[in-house]
Amino acid sequence: MELWQKMIRDSIHTVDQLVEKFNLDKKVAQKLDKFFQARINPYYLSLIRYPGDPIWLQCVPDESELNDIDAPEDPLGEDSMSPVPNITHRYPDRVLFLTTSQCGMYCRFCTRKRKVGNSSKISMKELDSAFKYIEEHPEIRDVILSGGDPLMLTDVMLEKILQRLRTIPHIEIIRIGSKMPCVLPHRITPKLAKMLKKYHPIYLNTHFNHPWEITSESKRACELLVDAGIPVGNQCVLMRGVNDNPDTIKELFRKLLAMRVRPYYLYQADLTKGANHFRTPIKVGLEIMDKLRGHMSGLAIPHFVIDAPGGGGKIPLLPQYVLHQDDEKIILRNYNYETFVYPDVKPEEFRCDLQSNGKEDILKIELPVLVGEP
Ligand SMILES: *Cc1c(COP(=O)(O)O)cnc(C)c1O
Ligand code: SF4
Repeated sequence: MELWQKMIRDSIHTVDQLVEKFNLDKKVAQKLDKFFQARINPYYLSLIRYPGDPIWLQCVPDESELNDIDAPEDPLGEDSMSPVPNITHRYPDRVLFLTTSQCGMYCRFCTRKRKVGNSSKISMKELDSAFKYIEEHPEIRDVILSGGDPLMLTDVMLEKILQRLRTIPHIEIIRIGSKMPCVLPHRITPKLAKMLKKYHPIYLNTHFNHPWEITSESKRACELLVDAGIPVGNQCVLMRGVNDNPDTIKELFRKLLAMRVRPYYLYQADLTKGANHFRTPIKVGLEIMDKLRGHMSGLAIPHFVIDAPGGGGKIPLLPQYVLHQDDEKIILRNYNYETFVYPDVKPEEFRCDLQSNGKEDILKIELPVLVGEP
């Protein structure tokens, strides 16, 4: 057994452990366990500094998860976009491929609570139909291994999946979505990095939410991946009480960049059953973005996105930079709230050859006058 597997085995997961360690009421702990089990490995546990801190909130079950039983279980409509088990095909050229229901830690804010945590939720027997689907769809260029956490698979199992994907000529890139560099960096071994390298181009997106998650271990893990030629990105979820202020986010993104991890997305928290207490007003995310652009290296600035309910996909939001726009000019403001008039090219001077599919008519809807206050 490898060290990381021992650490999974030594995780806090039973009701009795939760009661003893975190002072949870036994009845509440039982209900929570039934709804979405706990798994707090010794490494992530060691990052907690005090009860209720940003690390604690992400991993320790909380009574408030039981409050929103009416919220949707599948807020992103992923199941309806699943042509075969384990595949979500939402965008034209890329698919999500769910390879396991296990994770190195169970995040209390997870949007896939319905899929994760219990091995019956994603079946490995279904892998074959997933491979066949990818093989039969030449428009798929990009496969995103997800779950659960694909790095919960052993190196041998993961390599089998990568090998099979690499026999499909139309697959250009393979992405791995894994929280392991953050929650259990011991999983990232030189042996794993060496294996992954054989299947390039491989990208990995990880998931740090708070600067305290950046430690010498997680730094070592990310650097090992990057040194193996794997670009590492970060998907961060904005969460009440965890990271919902500009200073925390800035510190996190600066530290990520210093270990060569590029902030990729900042997500508005989804409307998920059992996780609504983490949601923040959209305004908070926009204010944070406003404090990033221009104030720190552009490489550290992700796209702020809402994953539209019901399967609309990720939609980017920007703070209000456009104060006014007409046929002749656009009036903009910069990061310091100074305004600038930029002359536009007049429509009659420009023959527009852009292809249209007609759907762009939606853009002709009158938008509210864009007059921002500095
Ligand atoms: C997020 C996501 C992707 C990947 O989106 P990118 O913007 O390319 O990173 C693909 N499929 C599904 C279903 C997703 O939710
Ligand atoms: S690692 Fe990802 S899939 Fe697993 S519990 Fe956390 S958010 Fe959910």
